[in-house]
Amino acid sequence: MKAMVLKRIASVEEKPLSLEDVPIPKFGQKDILIKISACGICHTELDEIEGRKKPKLPVILGHEVIGRVEKIGSSVTRFNINDRVGVAWIYSACGKCRFCLNDNENLCNDFKATGCDADGGYAEYMVVSEDFAYPVPDVFSDEEAAPLMCAGAIGYRALKLSGMENGKVLGLYGFGASAHIVIQVVKYLYPDSQVFVFTKKRNDESSKLAKSMGADWVGITGDSPPEKLDCAIDTTPVGTPVKEALRNLERGGRLVINTIRKETEIPALDYTEHLWNEKEIKSVANITRGDVEEFLPIAADIPIKPEIKRFKLEEANEALIMLKHGKYRGAGVLSME
Ligand SMILES: [Zn+2]
Ligand SMILES: [Zn+2]
Repeated sequence: MKAMVLKRIASVEEKPLSLEDVPIPKFGQKDILIKISACGICHTELDEIEGRKKPKLPVILGHEVIGRVEKIGSSVTRFNINDRVGVAWIYSACGKCRFCLNDNENLCNDFKATGCDADGGYAEYMVVSEDFAYPVPDVFSDEEAAPLMCAGAIGYRALKLSGMENGKVLGLYGFGASAHIVIQVVKYLYPDSQVFVFTKKRNDESSKLAKSMGADWVGITGDSPPEKLDCAIDTTPVGTPVKEALRNLERGGRLVINTIRKETEIPALDYTEHLWNEKEIKSVANITRGDVEEFLPIAADIPIKPEIKRFKLEEANEALIMLKHGKYRGAGVLSME
């Protein structure tokens, strides 16, 4: 099969993924072999390529996978040949530890990530246990469904953790693949709420997209919004929005940081200004199967329309460079057809 393979940590600009012909992966009794049709491109892949998040090497990246079941292991019961399935960041977890038993499998010591600890979707085929694949609602095309598997599902997890309720004010720092889905979920689940969006540059592509998607106010990181934020979600790869979001939080408000690594330091916080009055900070780590299973039907009801930028599998390097430099808006997707 064709695959884009990462063999060494490097700067994305060096185009380190190489198109290779590799064997179709073997599968066990509980596994399904998926013929991949689309795989979303995620900011986490930049972290893996550049070594801020360590993948196994060599690795086939990609954790927003959509495809059809091509073959099944002898004890598979959840799926049949030709079923359309998705695979998310969670590739497996131990199933036995106290985190797994309490639906916090995202925190399992033995958590394995798709396209990081196991080969993922930048390829024509992949293998996963049937327990870590999901039926994909019919309303979505393959390309539309791909970014829902991470940007959407993790955004949904972040939203749940933020304590958001109808009538509250939500601040979104950064408006990329995840936030542009979160805003659609918020407008659907919490129709009387306001969403304030903070981007990097005034009137950039993200700002325009946020306005077109119904943001109630759009500014840049550093601005003070018209009202204090009850909840905030930071999806940026840099440190400053953490301090800024805390400054703008209402008393008792909560900031959720939805990113694996920060590329720059979080500036020093002033206790009185940034934390006093019961302000909270929480990070989002990974994802559970429950998040994906809850999110996909909500996404179908809305129905969410991800803004897609389509690339061919062999264009993955160029797509990642564009993602790093903010050269397209919405969600990038590799299309295998
Ligand atoms: Zn991701
Ligand atoms: Zn576990």
